[in-house]
Amino acid sequence: MISYLTGTISSNQLPTRPRKLFFGRCLAADVYRDLVALKNEFEEVDVDLEEKELSVTTDSITLDGIFLGPFQIRLEWRHIGQSSQPYRVVALDPHPAAKSDEITHPHVQDERLCEGDGRPAIAAALTEGRLFDFFLLVSQLLHNYGRGSAYVELDHWDGEPCSDCGSYVDQEDRYYCHRCDEVLCDSCSHSCQGCDESFCSGCLSTCSVCGYEFCSACLESCRDCRKRVCDDCREEGQCSRCQQKQQEENEHDATEDDLQRETVATSV
Ligand SMILES: [Zn+2]
Ligand SMILES: [Zn+2]
Ligand SMILES: [Zn+2]
Ligand SMILES: [Zn+2]
Ligand SMILES: [Zn+2]
Repeated sequence: MISYLTGTISSNQLPTRPRKLFFGRCLAADVYRDLVALKNEFEEVDVDLEEKELSVTTDSITLDGIFLGPFQIRLEWRHIGQSSQPYRVVALDPHPAAKSDEITHPHVQDERLCEGDGRPAIAAALTEGRLFDFFLLVSQLLHNYGRGSAYVELDHWDGEPCSDCGSYVDQEDRYYCHRCDEVLCDSCSHSCQGCDESFCSGCLSTCSVCGYEFCSACLESCRDCRKRVCDDCREEGQCSRCQQKQQEENEHDATEDDLQRETVATSV
């Protein structure tokens, strides 16, 4: 049994006698039994005694037609009981989401697996030293896709949705809102009539006088009516409408003054 193991598991030297305690709680014999089972289940099983890591490699994973490649599940057994996730999930032939190179699987970011509902089962397998169960559980999660709980949904794997219309935009055709940084498609990217930068519809407002679209930096409030107006429609802090109104009022006042003067003149 032992010679079979040492011969096939890896080039790393395993302890020759299963006497030592591998983990705090379980005997090396149990570990060996699990290693045999793992070897039958996974493409590759590696024990690194120096790094205290036990790794298995999954087959190449494709979910919903998206190739994600094989993953190595690396368990750092000295961290069991100390870290909430004493293992890493490493993409061996990564095909990350367009959004981030760190997202190598819908449920893996920065080599950490979002365990979701599998969390209690994984934690129990680890604390009880059931290695085979642990690796199988993680592998099962990697072979499944939970829509709605992914870092990046598979529909969006190779591109990002336009924040305005939701349509799919590749890296090359993407625009970003100058203010909020949201992704935009060509037709949803609007330029400000003042500074000419691209913006999403939510970050643009219309000048209340001319009706053209401007970013918030290119609009200012009129000191009288407080409405937001562009540079061209504003003079000395006043919008052109208020300016016009004031002018008309001034003219009106002037004619009233003239009339008053006339009546005074005729009565005299
Ligand atoms: Zn769009
Ligand atoms: Zn602007
Ligand atoms: Zn925006
Ligand atoms: Zn204007
Ligand atoms: Zn005004």
